[in-house]
Amino acid sequence: MDVVIVFKPRKMTAHLWGEPGKELFTWRLVKGTAVDVDPYWVRDYFARVRTPTEAREFLNVTGLFAKTKKTINLPLEQIGFQWATFRAFQDLVKKSRLGTVGHLYEVLARTEFEVSLPKPICVEKEISTDEFGRPEFFVCLEVETALEAIAATIFIEQQAGIACRQCERPACSRIYRVASKHKRQYCSHACARKANKEMKREERSKTMGGK
Ligand SMILES: [Zn+2]
Repeated sequence: MDVVIVFKPRKMTAHLWGEPGKELFTWRLVKGTAVDVDPYWVRDYFARVRTPTEAREFLNVTGLFAKTKKTINLPLEQIGFQWATFRAFQDLVKKSRLGTVGHLYEVLARTEFEVSLPKPICVEKEISTDEFGRPEFFVCLEVETALEAIAATIFIEQQAGIACRQCERPACSRIYRVASKHKRQYCSHACARKANKEMKREERSKTMGGK
């Protein structure tokens, strides 16, 4: 049975405020129809964000990053979301995929944000049948924010027993799924080639240095 995460972020414009080191994002709701955004794409995009400007572009696509806990009593779009917190979540997501922090939902429950477990919205039957002639179906889980979407992808990945590793090329350091038992160091062939070139270049500069 397949699990499909449904993420339809509300149309919002993200604003970036504050001086360097103290950047803050706020949102404003805009008119427009919410469209489906692929949560796995959101997760990859989230991991690639390096600057506050890139984060604003990301938030323009994904809308509100998270909901604040009801106890805080103010919506996040009003109180704002700090760039430093954005970075902290990037780190948490990375560690969670690598399995170096505890259960992600338990870790998230200790933050100031509300991360609900995805709600099942429908079970759809596909026309196709499996090898035993049974109808194939999948379950749809609905999430409301980018953080919930990312958390759901990690939860499903972990339930499915998919292991992840970090690419050993420092310039990349992407998290990738381990597809086979064959030990790999890099996320892709392209990265392996680049790493090889970089290593040779480094060796050459060492010999040229004559030490
Ligand atoms: Zn890589």
